Amino acid sequence: MRRLSIRIRLTVWYLLVFSIALGAFGAAVWTLVRQRLYDEVAGQLQSRVNSVEHYMAAQREDMDAAHMSGELKEEYDAEDEGTWLQIMDQDGRWLYRSQAMAAAFPSVKMPQSIPLPGRAWSARVGRDRLRVIEQPITVFGRRYTIETAITTNGVHHTLENLRTVFLLLAPGFILIAGFGSYFMSRRALAPVDEITAMARSIHDRNLDLRLPSLHTNDELQRLSDTLNEMLSRIEASFKRTRQFTADASHELRTPLSIIRTEAELALRKSRSEEEYRNALDHVLTESVRTSELIESLLTLARTDSGAEILQLRPVPIVEFLRHVAADWNPFFVQAQLSFDASLPDNEVSVHADEATLRRLLILLLDNARKYTAQGGRVVLRAVATPGVVTVSVEDNGIGIDESHLPRIFDRFYRVDKARSRSEGGAGLGLSLAKWIASQHRTAITVESTPGKGSKFSFTLETVRSGIPNPPQPRADTKVERVV
Ligand code: ADP
Repeated sequence: MRRLSIRIRLTVWYLLVFSIALGAFGAAVWTLVRQRLYDEVAGQLQSRVNSVEHYMAAQREDMDAAHMSGELKEEYDAEDEGTWLQIMDQDGRWLYRSQAMAAAFPSVKMPQSIPLPGRAWSARVGRDRLRVIEQPITVFGRRYTIETAITTNGVHHTLENLRTVFLLLAPGFILIAGFGSYFMSRRALAPVDEITAMARSIHDRNLDLRLPSLHTNDELQRLSDTLNEMLSRIEASFKRTRQFTADASHELRTPLSIIRTEAELALRKSRSEEEYRNALDHVLTESVRTSELIESLLTLARTDSGAEILQLRPVPIVEFLRHVAADWNPFFVQAQLSFDASLPDNEVSVHADEATLRRLLILLLDNARKYTAQGGRVVLRAVATPGVVTVSVEDNGIGIDESHLPRIFDRFYRVDKARSRSEGGAGLGLSLAKWIASQHRTAITVESTPGKGSKFSFTLETVRSGIPNPPQPRADTKVERVV
């Protein structure tokens, strides 16, 4: 079943609540007015009883019933008060009985003992409505029962009128309230339609569009602001992905066109074995670079998709670094660089994924080799302090200018494109290094001065004896400059 719109639902709910409240209000007013009017009638009846009692008490004490009856007739026959009045003495004799009363209650035989303070009730005589009171009184030691009544037609009409006015006005009020609430909810929810229409028109090719910015300072403004922030994030992520794809294609195109040109040139005419060998050598070098590049791209793609999850285990870091240094020594010798490993004397275990940590170190050592001139010096250092081991790769190479420092961890970013390319770098090494560091819940810190050298450091948490506490990855990288 199709659900009603929020607008209609709000209006219906509002009307329901409003009608109930209006009904309750009307009923309360009617009850209060009725109570007040009947209290007034009760007061008048009581004062009639009192006045009859006073009149009787004002007669002679030894007056007999017949005389008293005569006096009462004389007093009340011509009076309004006498229209609805009857008085019976304790022997059951009528001392006074108006025609109206006798006609209205012909068969009434008043009880001889009515409990104090008497009783009151409503009755209908012909077209008249009456409020009747029956009350015992004692005058000169004799008991009498007085029964008197007042017509309440006026009261009844007032209450009828009140009810009619209310019943006539209520639907009007409900109608006005209904229109009002529908109009208000339409106005309040109008931005939702705008947001919906705009959101519908946004797709992957116009992600720069934004939802209308509201200045209502309410939930809807918060909703549109939040959605706009989300769109900005999605747009940035799309841009990064597109940039990455464009950069990756560009990087792959260069070695592939070199391979193709080299092969075409070699095949253009017949050549000596040495020339073929040279050509194949070039082709091989570029193929190796291309596979390394593809390998890095695949790793980055896996890290992006979250498929690459590292298993951090206790690693004896001193022994591990000693092995890495020994493996890398020949490369530095070949590059005519001096290479030292400065490691703690005592073994310390850290939380690490051995294979990826090795990759991180290789990336840093390879950069130090690439960007340090012959005769330079590279140091692999580890310093153990309580809780952490700080590992650094230092060189006295070309250094990095301050303006480039914040970007060197970006994908495909290279300070000197020509130089980096000639060394085989595609600008992906440090972005991979950053991801590996983040997986080890650490960040890479760079200190560098152009012409003097660079130092890339990161810390690893040591394994606390007894409770291995595998760290969670973090994703930031700090960049510092040492002057
Ligand atoms: P590449 O593959 O080009 O070396 P990286 O991501 O490893 O890419 O490094 C990015 C850039 O940072 C490099 O192009 C280089 O300019 C600079 N860089 C990295 N390490 C060093 C270093 N030890 N000395 C000087 N510059 C460096």
